[in-house]
Amino acid sequence: MTRHLEGTVALVTGASSGIGEATAVALAAEGATLAIAARRRDRLEQVVERIGSDADVLVVETDITDEAAARAMVEATVLEFGRLDTVINNAGVMLLGPIVGAPVEEWRRMVELNVLGLLYTTHAALPHLLAAAEQEPRRVADIVNVSSVAGRFARLGSGVYNTTKFGVGAFSESLRQEVTRRHVRVSLIEPGATRTELAGHNRPEVLQTMAATFGDTELMQAEDIAESIVFTVTRPRHVAVNEVLIRPTEQER
Ligand code: NDP
Repeated sequence: MTRHLEGTVALVTGASSGIGEATAVALAAEGATLAIAARRRDRLEQVVERIGSDADVLVVETDITDEAAARAMVEATVLEFGRLDTVINNAGVMLLGPIVGAPVEEWRRMVELNVLGLLYTTHAALPHLLAAAEQEPRRVADIVNVSSVAGRFARLGSGVYNTTKFGVGAFSESLRQEVTRRHVRVSLIEPGATRTELAGHNRPEVLQTMAATFGDTELMQAEDIAESIVFTVTRPRHVAVNEVLIRPTEQER
């Protein structure tokens, strides 16, 4: 079997669970050498065990809401493996509920991770991606930003999550225009409801509302999203998948 990412290095943020974990496993199966990052080292170590002999893996225990830590994560990857071809900006948090009376701390957590963490990581990675795009084996590099259906459509009860993911979309499109001629592809993945740990961080009253909306929906699995990410980063050099909106079949909005 051809492994499309042999000789390349990928960094996945939020790789300790859910979509990031599934994406790390899938990229390893395509031959990528990997850096996997998140705060929970024990969970990252479990991902390394899952990957087994498929790939060399560097574990980076980090909190990317700290700019210096995000930069250190990127530099540790390049120090270890000598290059960086693919960045999957996946780490994120979704804290839903009405805007009126919301705990502002929840807004801060979302903005700091979904927006600032992604910006810090991207800023630090760009010089390395631009260099990799000039080199064999692919002569193209990838930034994949994991947004959401919530980055395309605002909904009652998810105002600030919508704000962060719309922001990711705007940033991605502007950056895409800036670097695409230099063969750094910037792609946006916009999943609908996917079974992961994401929803579990919400307050009980919010969980109740979510159960009423999605309780009887057959959700996607993290592996479904990982597949779309691997598809995106394994296209030939002249093809850029700019945007993937992917929902469970039963999800209406
Ligand atoms: P999970 O909660 O399973 O994964 C979130 C990941 O982010 C974890 O690995 C977590 O690891 C990491 N993370 C959280 N805070 C930080 C931090 N400060 N620094 C570094 N890493 C951090 O959820 P998903 O897999 O569902 O979420 C992945 C992405 O997919 C998110 O951006 C989310 O918005 C998006 N998404 C998910 C959907 C869904 O229905 N599941 C739908 C649409 C989009 P740790 O706690 O160890 O740091």
